[in-house]
Amino acid sequence: MFACLITLDCARADHVMGREARTPQIDRFRKDAVAFTEAHAHTNTTLPSHVTMMTGKLIPEHGVDHNMRVPVGRHFFLSERLGKAGVHSGGFVGIQFLEKLYASKFNGLDRHFDLPDARVARALLMRLGIKGTRRGAARTADRALRWIKKHRSIDAFCWLHLFDTHMFYQAHSRWRKYYNVPEGREGGYLADHLARQNLVAFHILRGERRHLEYYPRMYKAAISHTDEVVGRFFDSLRAMGLYDEALIIVTGDHGENLTEHGVYCGHPLLFDETIRVPLLVKFPGRQHACEEVSDPVGHQDLLPTVLRHFKLDCNREPCRDLGSFLGTLDRQAERPLLAFHNKMFQGAVRKGPWTWVENLDLTEVLPRNRALYDEVGLFDAGGCKVESPSLAARMSRILNDFILRTQTSHVVEGVEEEAIKVQLRELGYL
Ligand SMILES: [Zn+2]
Repeated sequence: MFACLITLDCARADHVMGREARTPQIDRFRKDAVAFTEAHAHTNTTLPSHVTMMTGKLIPEHGVDHNMRVPVGRHFFLSERLGKAGVHSGGFVGIQFLEKLYASKFNGLDRHFDLPDARVARALLMRLGIKGTRRGAARTADRALRWIKKHRSIDAFCWLHLFDTHMFYQAHSRWRKYYNVPEGREGGYLADHLARQNLVAFHILRGERRHLEYYPRMYKAAISHTDEVVGRFFDSLRAMGLYDEALIIVTGDHGENLTEHGVYCGHPLLFDETIRVPLLVKFPGRQHACEEVSDPVGHQDLLPTVLRHFKLDCNREPCRDLGSFLGTLDRQAERPLLAFHNKMFQGAVRKGPWTWVENLDLTEVLPRNRALYDEVGLFDAGGCKVESPSLAARMSRILNDFILRTQTSHVVEGVEEEAIKVQLRELGYL
C-alpha cells in the first residue's frame, strides 16, 4: 500500500481549487479526487502546521509554536505509528527548518522518518546574497520519487513539501510572462522594502504600486509553476503503477495574504486567506471521485485518514477520517475547528457558518500592527462582521476552554540554532 501527502506552502484555497490561478495538472487530479471545499489549517505558520498534520494536535497541545521549535519526543507522530506497523515513511521538504520533523537532531536517531533527506540546497538565496536553505519544487519532487521507486514494493508513506509558493515566490519565466509579472530582481521588491523598513513589519502595506502588482502575479506564477511539478510527480507515480490504488492528499500548510487586510505578501495573522486551504484527497480506486464535501474539515483529520488507509485505527477525538464524510449523513457539521496564531497572539473558532477570531496576548506586538490586530470578532461565512454578543461569548468560551484544558502542563523545548534563526530572519519571520 502507498500513501502520499503533498503540502504546498502558502497555498490559498482560491488559487489552487478556484479560478485565481491556472492549475491544469491539479484540475486533472481533482477529477480523480474528492474536493473538501471548506478545509482549514489550524495555524498560520509552516512548522507548527505540519506538526499538527503529523500529530493531530493543535499548538496548545503540541507546543511547537514557532519554526525554531523542535517537536518533542512524547508526541504521537504519524510516522512513528506507521513505523510500528511496518510502514516506511519518507519526508522531502523544500525548506530547512522542516527537517526538524525528521527529528534527526535528537540523539542521532530519526524517530519520525526512516530516511531523512539531506540538507536542502542554498541556490536561490545564496544567489540573492542571503544565507538560507531552500530547494526548488522539481528537485524536491525528484528526490521523493527516487525514494518511492526504491520502496514501491512495500508499504510506504511519502510526505512531499514544496516551497516555491512561499516568498520569494519561484516560477519559470514562462509563467512570469503568462501572468505579466513586472520585471525586477527575484525578491528584489521585498528586499528593497525590507531594507527600508529595517526588517520590521515587512508585510504591512506601505509599499508602492509596483509591490501591489508584483506579489499577487508572482504568487500565481509560482502556483502554476508548482502545478507543473505536481503533474509530473503524478505521471511518475502512474508510470510506477502506484497511482491508482494510492491515497494521495494535496493541501496547503496555510494560506497567504495578497494585499488583503493591508498585507501585500505573507501570512501573519488568522485571516480567512491565511487559514483556508485547498484539500483534495484521492482515495484508492478513485472512490467518490469528483465529489465535493462542504463540511468544515481541518488538518487534524489527515492523520486518521492516512492511518485508516493502512488499516490502522485512530481514536483521537476530534480528529476524523476524511473518508467518513463520504456517502454518509453523519456530518458533524457543528464540530468546532480551532486555529491558533503561531505565537498564540490570536485564536479562532470555526463552527457551522460562523468564525470567531480573538486576540489572546498582544503584549509583544502592540502597538506596531495595531490596526491589523484590531480586525477581530465574529464573522459569517462571507467574511462580514456580525453583531451577536451571545454567540460571540459562546464561541470565545469554546476557544478559552480548549486553551485551559490543554495548556496546563505543557513544557516546550526550543532550539537556538543560529543558522535557522538567520534563515527565518531573512524570510521575514523574526
Ligand atoms: Zn508555510
